[in-house]
Amino acid sequence: MNMPPCPAFSQSPLDRMDELRPSIGVHLLSGPDSRNRFLLFAEAGVVRRLGGERFLFTDTDLEAIPHDRGLAVFLGGAGQELYFALPVGELGPGIETLDLRLLVNQNLVPDEELGMLAQANSVLGWHRTHGFCGRCGARTAQAHGGWRRECPACGAQHFPRVDPVVIMLVTHGEQCLLGCGRDFASRRMYACLAGFMEPGETIEDAARRELSEEAGLAVRSVAYLFSQPWPYPSSLMIGLRVEAENMDVRMDEKELVGLMWVSRTEVRAVLEGAEDRGFLLPSRVAIARDLLLAWAYAPES
Ligand SMILES: [Zn+2]
Repeated sequence: MNMPPCPAFSQSPLDRMDELRPSIGVHLLSGPDSRNRFLLFAEAGVVRRLGGERFLFTDTDLEAIPHDRGLAVFLGGAGQELYFALPVGELGPGIETLDLRLLVNQNLVPDEELGMLAQANSVLGWHRTHGFCGRCGARTAQAHGGWRRECPACGAQHFPRVDPVVIMLVTHGEQCLLGCGRDFASRRMYACLAGFMEPGETIEDAARRELSEEAGLAVRSVAYLFSQPWPYPSSLMIGLRVEAENMDVRMDEKELVGLMWVSRTEVRAVLEGAEDRGFLLPSRVAIARDLLLAWAYAPES
């Protein structure tokens, strides 16, 4: 059996070790420990030493960097090491911050480690924007290793959110449907259609609704393929294969500036670097590329 593709951010070396979460704050505040490893995040992205290869900091490294250990999130363990995400503010010379997409597209981090960077970026982002209780408005406090916020006024507990997005590889025979979104920087960039799920929908419902809204498309079948954590800020991209009833489409001009059927041969050519076909496909950071690769080179489907 073929292994499913592994989109960017979908692999992690960590065991999340939920059993350590209740006590990990005490461990962290009790002083330096040679097992501790920290991923540091500023608003602009993950932090590393200028020109350095690794993104991990030890307690010794942290001595020169202002931080609050009470804001650390426990990511999990690997071997004897314990991994934490830590927000930092002002950075001195010799330190740089990098956007996660850049790390992927420039191969700066092994694929096997990208998942923990996505995990860290999403949960730290959630803490940054959820400082107050959604029920009573009081300031909340971080708890359970950073995997919960608690309200001291009303007792409510709040948990990190994940926002599911359906992304559809739509096919009809040897053709697949690609769209160019209004928010794409390049008017030549085409990708699989996608949209946020809404409360009360199944995954299949969401796929049918999105394709009806954006493309006026009639759907014959929907099947799950594979998924990707997408840390902007905390989506889950649910990759689907959709068979269309026919090739009749009607573009939603509020969302899209282009919508077209493309042959498998054309998709292969562009994936292999052809620049003369009039359109581009997403880079390897996006699950859309994995979906297109899986279809373009499938022995038959
Ligand atoms: Zn409250």
